[in-house]
Amino acid sequence: MTEAFIGLGSNLGDSVDYLLFARQQLSSLADSQLVATSRLYRSAPVGPQDQPDFYNAVIQLNTSLAPIPLLDALQRIEQQAGRVRQRHWGERTLDLDILLYGDGTLNLPRLQVPHPQLGRRSFVLQPLSDIHPQLILPDGTPLTTLRDACSHQQICYHEDSRWRAGLER
Ligand code: ATP
Ligand code: CA
Ligand code: CA
Repeated sequence: MTEAFIGLGSNLGDSVDYLLFARQQLSSLADSQLVATSRLYRSAPVGPQDQPDFYNAVIQLNTSLAPIPLLDALQRIEQQAGRVRQRHWGERTLDLDILLYGDGTLNLPRLQVPHPQLGRRSFVLQPLSDIHPQLILPDGTPLTTLRDACSHQQICYHEDSRWRAGLER
């Protein structure tokens, strides 16, 4: 089993509903166990500013799926959530990214791991550190170093009782 961290994002429709759907789907993913769920966060969009705020969270899976089958499974869940590809870094009902796959480093056309933007995004680093504050990235950088360097980016904790109901798992 490999420890994988999945980034969840949504900024179209009822975003919290889409993130709850994603968590439900991830909890029943083949050859995988959902181990931990971060708190939920809201932040202004990266990229085009004329779109709604994003809701983000991170989920930890222990999985025996190889990276590409895991990506395939995530993209199927995005499709089930009605994701339509529009502009780059534009609005979407659901975005599921592989942030980390154990200590693995991959540089394939379809899949780069660690996620290339991981170190620059508070909306990923903060929920990741909710789950695993002691995490060290494959290149040896402590997660806290990256998180603190991005702390000027405004994100806020978003309280939602439906989301919180899953945090104890
Ligand atoms: P960003 O990757 O900057 O967060 P995005 O999530 O909006 O942008 P998408 O349009 O969702 O980008 O994905 C474009 C492609 O990125 C996907 O089709 C996938 O093949 C590729 N990709 C590369 N690395 C990863 C990864 N670690 N997780 C998910 N997709 C990835
Ligand atoms: Ca993304
Ligand atoms: Ca993506």
